Amino acid sequence: MGSVGAKEVPVLLSPEGLRIDGRKLDELRPLRIQAGALHQADGSAFVEWGANKVMAAVYGPREVHPRHLQQNDKAVIQCRYNMAAFSVDERKRPGIDRRSQEISKVIGEAFESVVFAEEFPRTSIDIYIEVLQANAGTRCAGLVAASVALADAGIPMVDLLPAVAVGKVGGAIALDLKKEEDNYGEADLPMALVPQSGRLVLLQMEGHMSEDELARALDLGVKGCRDIYETMKQALRERYAIEPAHGESA
Ligand code: UDP
Repeated sequence: MGSVGAKEVPVLLSPEGLRIDGRKLDELRPLRIQAGALHQADGSAFVEWGANKVMAAVYGPREVHPRHLQQNDKAVIQCRYNMAAFSVDERKRPGIDRRSQEISKVIGEAFESVVFAEEFPRTSIDIYIEVLQANAGTRCAGLVAASVALADAGIPMVDLLPAVAVGKVGGAIALDLKKEEDNYGEADLPMALVPQSGRLVLLQMEGHMSEDELARALDLGVKGCRDIYETMKQALRERYAIEPAHGESA
């Protein structure tokens, strides 16, 4: 631990280039995805990613509530991200706050760019994301869970949306930040990728990076997303007991 004023700041990067949990800079936290974890929802997924635990449930296409949001030419995609009061060390005030509103909005917009909403006019596709345990990167874990839940619900999409946060810790660009790295690092950059086109449909940034660092961070994030994509596809294969296509990695 080093100290800044009265606050203890953990050493984020060892002289050997290892992180606070022993990971390398380009290493993801362990990721486990269970597709179809809930019986009542049309589609669902449970994601355990490092110390994050996130459940996503999808309903629809179904009747729109509230009615005035209905659109004649396409489905509305309504997303609600929520962090449980018990999901963090210091009890979070239950209910909707500005952060959860912002996250719901950016996740909903990311899905608007991949879901074939025009196939379901005058309906709603409702995505619920519940964070049960949080340790940074929950919006990305939420995106991953919701993506698999949408596929599980049979909603047609261009592609799944793998997501990860990259950042800068101890002066180095690192993949998949955990809580201490998010809190005490120099920058945090969550992103979501459409793997087939390479297009980013969510990109946010907190903190500072040079142009060169940003380019390296994006590159690292895209590689991370491609690994996460494989785990997402595998979760769906396990749910529907589909063997990997010949020549395709599992
Ligand atoms: N966090 C918290 N209390 C809050 C909001 C966030 O303890 O009210 C923690 C939680 O572990 C979260 C992390 O701070 O995952 C980083 O939050 P951020 O807003 O960067 O979003 P995230 O990284 O989870 O997408």
